[in-house]
Amino acid sequence: MSRNQIPTAESLQQQAHDAAKRCGVDPERIAGDRPHRSPINGESLGGIRWGTTDDVDEAVRRSHQAFLQWRKVPAPQRGAVIKRFGELLTEHKEDLGTLVSLEVGKITSEALGEVQEMIDICDFAVGLSRQLYGSTSVSERPGHRLMETWHPLGVVGVISAFNFPVAVWSWNTAVALVCGDTVIWKPSEQAPLCAWASAALLSRALEESGAPADVSQVVVGGPEIGESLVDNSGVAMVSATGSTRMGRAVGPRVANRFGRSLLELGGNNAAIVSPTADLDLTLRGIVFAAAGTAGQRCTTMRRVIAHSSIVEELTERLVEAYERLPIGDPLAHGTLVGPLVHGDAYAAMQAALEKAQAAGGKIVVGGERVLADEATDAYYVRPAVVRMPEQSEVVTQETFAPVLYVLDYEEFADAIALNNDVPQGLSSALFTQDQAESEIYLSSEGSDCGIVNINIGTSGAEIGGAFGGEKETGGGRESGFDAWRGYMRRATNTINYSGELPLAQGVDFSV
Ligand code: NAD
Repeated sequence: MSRNQIPTAESLQQQAHDAAKRCGVDPERIAGDRPHRSPINGESLGGIRWGTTDDVDEAVRRSHQAFLQWRKVPAPQRGAVIKRFGELLTEHKEDLGTLVSLEVGKITSEALGEVQEMIDICDFAVGLSRQLYGSTSVSERPGHRLMETWHPLGVVGVISAFNFPVAVWSWNTAVALVCGDTVIWKPSEQAPLCAWASAALLSRALEESGAPADVSQVVVGGPEIGESLVDNSGVAMVSATGSTRMGRAVGPRVANRFGRSLLELGGNNAAIVSPTADLDLTLRGIVFAAAGTAGQRCTTMRRVIAHSSIVEELTERLVEAYERLPIGDPLAHGTLVGPLVHGDAYAAMQAALEKAQAAGGKIVVGGERVLADEATDAYYVRPAVVRMPEQSEVVTQETFAPVLYVLDYEEFADAIALNNDVPQGLSSALFTQDQAESEIYLSSEGSDCGIVNINIGTSGAEIGGAFGGEKETGGGRESGFDAWRGYMRRATNTINYSGELPLAQGVDFSV
């Protein structure tokens, strides 16, 4: 199939069903009446069955029962299940990658990269299963010892977004399971097949080890399924990834019942390009971060803040690179930019481009729909670069599509101010050869984001580092060496072996 031809419905549907079956998905699930479309051609991947809010209540009940057994399994044995899950993911990497491409339109190499990230977090969690350390401390009282112990929280609800339809669940699940929690997943409504396929592989690993099946469950459906998880007091923690709009609804509702939440929300990520930057490297870093995944990563670069002495040259080179970008069928060899997820994303992109122009911006490349005609429900666009006179309102908003705004600066301090002057705080980058600039950017006077990079773009994180951001990005952190603490509760223990009962702070309460 050529990149410039959109594949037929039958061929995609067959591929989806074959890959799902090989991963062990129950064929009943992919025989429902709920429409399910692929962004590749806008046509049906076959009907599916959605769950109900009653299914959520039942899942929480069963998850709690499973938790009562799972928490007693020693952590290294829980790690062995995750090890087996990682092996199964490796075996079915292509199947899962295909499903990710079919359901959300990622190009093959990025879809396989997403599955690789799942395998990586499994490796990470296996090591972690022998490293759930607590500390001990000295007591102010003679014959006493202080220490902390860590315990699983219980049922963890995971709500995930369409653009990382499986990796985000695995970041949460591999770590939560090793910690002794059980997990209920509400995947994106765009991606039920890859969710069921991933969960089927985990179920196989659980079954082989004799673990309770309900340690991992999936309920597919729309926001109402997410809301039921959010409001259910049997769910100890809700880890929710998606838009800031969603986080604004979820955060207060979980807090209202004193549940724990982990929020991974929208970004509006900038790169500052200093006059000393290596422009060849900078260009490559910007194009991958801004146009990769068709601009649909939370870490997508949305703003370039370039020094006035190089901004024109950089913009010209971006135009040349963007004109050459191979756009088309994400499953075809050589494609770098696949489709937008749906028509609403295309409409949001066009609305943002209009607003930017009204604010004095000039589209220097892209923005137009390509490949599919107006009648097709598939939306391929050439990623856009817009030269902006200032950081107007539209630039401060996250438009989940490939629109890159280019701004300029004179003083480095002004560039940092622009970097930080948006409501979101996920990822940021500085391209420079100037060590002092680099140190300032990494310091408390620099970028206010959760991810701050030097000479590398804003996207493409590794699981070894903590992932997440500040402000409207929600403050959550996943992955990284201490993320496990978020999935456990901590108890402080004081042990008295003195035979006396001295009180702390010298309090006298003799009776
Ligand atoms: P979305 O907010 O529309 O949906 C995300 C998930 O939340 C879906 O499963 C959806 O059904 C569910 N949901 C929506 N409203 C809900 C509610 N009121 N209660 C409970 N659940 C609800 O997001 P999307 O379009 O799927 O994904 C794109 C967004 O996600 C972007 O804003 C992107 O930046 C963000 N994102 C953030 C991260 C991160 O780690 N910070 C990662 C991926 C995506």
